[in-house]
Amino acid sequence: MEPIDEAELAIEGALRPSSLDEFVGQAKVRGQLQLLLEAAAIQGRSADHILLAGPPGLGKTTLAMIVAHESGRPLRMSSGPAIQHAGDLAALLSSLTPGEVLFIDEIHRMARSAEEMLYLAMEDFRIDIMVGKGAGATSIPLELAPFTLVGATTRSGLLPNPLRDRFGFTGHLEFYDEGELEQVIARSALVLGVDLPSDSLAEIARRSRGTPRIANRLLRRVRDYALVHGGGAASLSGVRAALELYDVDPIGLDRLDRAVLEALVRRFRGGPVGLSTLAVAVGEEAETVESVVEPYLVRIGFLGRTPRGRVAMPEAFAHLGLAHHAEAGL
Ligand code: ATP
Repeated sequence: MEPIDEAELAIEGALRPSSLDEFVGQAKVRGQLQLLLEAAAIQGRSADHILLAGPPGLGKTTLAMIVAHESGRPLRMSSGPAIQHAGDLAALLSSLTPGEVLFIDEIHRMARSAEEMLYLAMEDFRIDIMVGKGAGATSIPLELAPFTLVGATTRSGLLPNPLRDRFGFTGHLEFYDEGELEQVIARSALVLGVDLPSDSLAEIARRSRGTPRIANRLLRRVRDYALVHGGGAASLSGVRAALELYDVDPIGLDRLDRAVLEALVRRFRGGPVGLSTLAVAVGEEAETVESVVEPYLVRIGFLGRTPRGRVAMPEAFAHLGLAHHAEAGL
């Protein structure tokens, strides 16, 4: 999540759908979750553990909140980076109330020692707490209240198999198409009280990188622009001017997307180039390039991941106004 300040945080909350019916798109994952929750409700038990995988901003946190809301259970939120020792996890797990939904965002960043504790907790609702050190160390078993773990990850490939296998279901979230983004934006515009003609709505959807979080963020900048320049109404030219001001290009690529493309196409002549070399060239962490930038560039056919490294596709050259080297005879 990347809320900017308290006011933005409150708006984020207001824009979040609170039921599966209100949640736009992801029909497959929604159907799978619905079944899982209904079966658990019929049997009066906690739902199976759920893993949600996909790029940032596609709705993993929102779905975790919906799981808790739809099953009428409280929700506890934590994240992998906050669990740096097995003790952190033990404290969290032992304080859960029966049936609580535990959401762990970025679960792939949890400490290894905590992962091992989690296996047992997920399977048997039990943990072993180590007391003392060396030869005198003993482990004390502790029974836990049954809970549903909802894990979110941008990189399910990084999860060790024993952990992945303990989730009853993995939902893979996909980028949204423009029609779905239009629905997200129309709903948010109503909540925010923004007057948005249909051509403006379509323009924001087209530039949202397939991501509801980005759609909502762009809508807020368009709202600001309309307030300052347009007397409240967001005309198409106002939308374009606002998004240009914030460095969002006509197909929704932002500065980092374009920096990666420029480096790949110009500096490395279309590749192949290794991920870490590419990341250094744009001054970013390899993980950010891999999990935030690349999935969308792959999805729109601009970038390919090959065993020899990243390659730029002809569409990427065209977007930057350059000829692909095959055509330029290089
Ligand atoms: P991260 O892992 O980076 O936190 P995320 O995948 O958990 O990202 P969310 O925080 O759930 O993403 O969603 C981001 C924003 O997008 C939320 O404010 C939410 O309102 C909106 N959103 C996400 N998915 C949908 C959807 N399907 N329908 C309507 N709004 C959505």
